[in-house]
Amino acid sequence: MRFSRYFLPTLREDPAEAEVVSHRLMLRAGMIRKLASGIYSYLPYGLAAIKNVERIIREEMNRAGAQEVLLPMVQPAELWQETERWEKYGRELLRFKDRKDHDFCLSPTAEEVITDLVRRDVRSYKQLPLNLYQIQTKFRDEIRPRFGLMRAREFIMKDAYSFDADEAGAETSYQAMYEAYHRIFRRCGLRFRAVAADTGAIGGHASHEFMVLAETGEDQIAICPQCDYAANVELAEARPPSSSAEEERELPLEKVSTPGVHRAEEVAAFLGVSLNRLVKTLIYVADGRPVAVLIRGDHELNEIKLKKALQAERLEMAPAEVVEKVTGAPVGFAGPVGLKIDIIADRAVAALKNFVTGANEAEKHYLNVNLGRDFPSPPTADLRNVVSGDPCPQCGGPLEILKGIEVGHTFKLGTKYSQAMGATFLDAQGKERPLIMGCYGIGVGRTVAAAIEQNHDENGIIFPVPIAPFKVIVVPVNTKDSKLLKAAEDIYQDLSARVSTLLDDRNERPGVKFKDADLIGVPLRITIGKKLKDGLVELKKRSTGETMTLRVEEVVARTQ
Ligand code: ATP
Ligand code: MG
Ligand code: MG
Ligand code: MG
Repeated sequence: MRFSRYFLPTLREDPAEAEVVSHRLMLRAGMIRKLASGIYSYLPYGLAAIKNVERIIREEMNRAGAQEVLLPMVQPAELWQETERWEKYGRELLRFKDRKDHDFCLSPTAEEVITDLVRRDVRSYKQLPLNLYQIQTKFRDEIRPRFGLMRAREFIMKDAYSFDADEAGAETSYQAMYEAYHRIFRRCGLRFRAVAADTGAIGGHASHEFMVLAETGEDQIAICPQCDYAANVELAEARPPSSSAEEERELPLEKVSTPGVHRAEEVAAFLGVSLNRLVKTLIYVADGRPVAVLIRGDHELNEIKLKKALQAERLEMAPAEVVEKVTGAPVGFAGPVGLKIDIIADRAVAALKNFVTGANEAEKHYLNVNLGRDFPSPPTADLRNVVSGDPCPQCGGPLEILKGIEVGHTFKLGTKYSQAMGATFLDAQGKERPLIMGCYGIGVGRTVAAAIEQNHDENGIIFPVPIAPFKVIVVPVNTKDSKLLKAAEDIYQDLSARVSTLLDDRNERPGVKFKDADLIGVPLRITIGKKLKDGLVELKKRSTGETMTLRVEEVVARTQ
């Protein structure tokens, strides 16, 4: 590409509207322009970066066995009514009517549409597993669109959906995506962490977010430097109870009933409750039934007493029967509500039965307590956010709180959508069963923005090579010098055959060209200047500033 012909309007000044560095640089480097709030046009340079991320995503999704489709972004209300999300999704869902007065929405995600597609044509376990993905524009009427492509209203998302016949298969599909996501973000040159996460409006019972570590991130994540614990603070933080249907989560309780001890964050992710609550909410599974012990943070004594009574190092190790035996507490407590029971909980935890609670009497505890029946859910004012230094729920070490940009999100959906929409198949025994689903999103534009947040300096973008629109820029310092220009042309022609190359053939001062090359973040710059008379040119690495003087004949070979 020749700079003189390329639509790459760079800006000298920082645009006033841009608060974060990636937004500023994407505007200045002529990548995007705003059309309306949260709605952007992609210019050639911006689109090229987007396409590179899309290519990496496609390669890794295909490699993981997923197949690409393209679903409509205009979706009929009827499908969304089947899952009740037409009402529940809230105002991020942009609803509108066509000329016949039929209700439609712009797709913010596509569980309904894909489930509809699959229920029509998948009949047998023999057609499973299936993983379908698309890279398609999404629309979410965000309350506060900001930071350019980072939180837009119209944005490009890769969304994938897996369908399996059984839990084991669904787990394998999930793992395949979890690993593909690691490869994708690694290839994009990002420093990131996968963290346990809330399931939000998508629903389901377990999820991971892929967080790019950056100060401008809108999410906070709790990470334990001593073990592998990592979770979104959202999961760990107190959320006020909400009457909005948007926040309501289903609790497929039968899933908890796998006998065994579950790790706190697994249970939290599964239940969709805050980890903070769970830190003090110890859940056992005994006789195939979930049992929870709720202990409020400022009543540590209770926990110590319980531990002592059970002579257990870790409370999680104790089965419910032991609790009952040692505490001698009555089973099936249904006493007066007035008791000062030391518990915290929310609606989600409330759906679990069999709580063990303090009985407001030394060394006594109640078993099989039911929230809602035995006492009301306590006010959430008791809850607080997880802060730096809080004990890790896994190993007790001090947690670190970091900021992150959510670039991807994987969900285990279970049968939430297949059940609501009657998406079933016949198993090997000929029995009709609902499909087990997963869904997996990546924000394409947000990934480019996150890469810039992590890779820039005061002069501009430093593109990671795999997503850089051009790998090399060839800069003749004086285009009026025909020898220089000819040498630049030759090098440009040679290089273009191998890598995407930009030739800065503009009649501009060298300073202007160097500034632009730095601003747009091309990984390698070849400068053709005065030394050409000795047969030499300069190769400069954008990331380190390292320069090498090379012979004209060797520069192409060294630029790989
Ligand atoms: P956020 O918490 O930032 O609002 P989300 O959890 O609502 O994101 P998901 O429903 O998990 O988003 O969608 C999958 C991916 O789509 C996200 O991980 C993110 O990368 C991207 N994404 C979501 N909303 C936006 C947006 N408004 N602008 C750009 N990308 C977005
Ligand atoms: Mg959102
Ligand atoms: Mg989120
Ligand atoms: Mg998310």
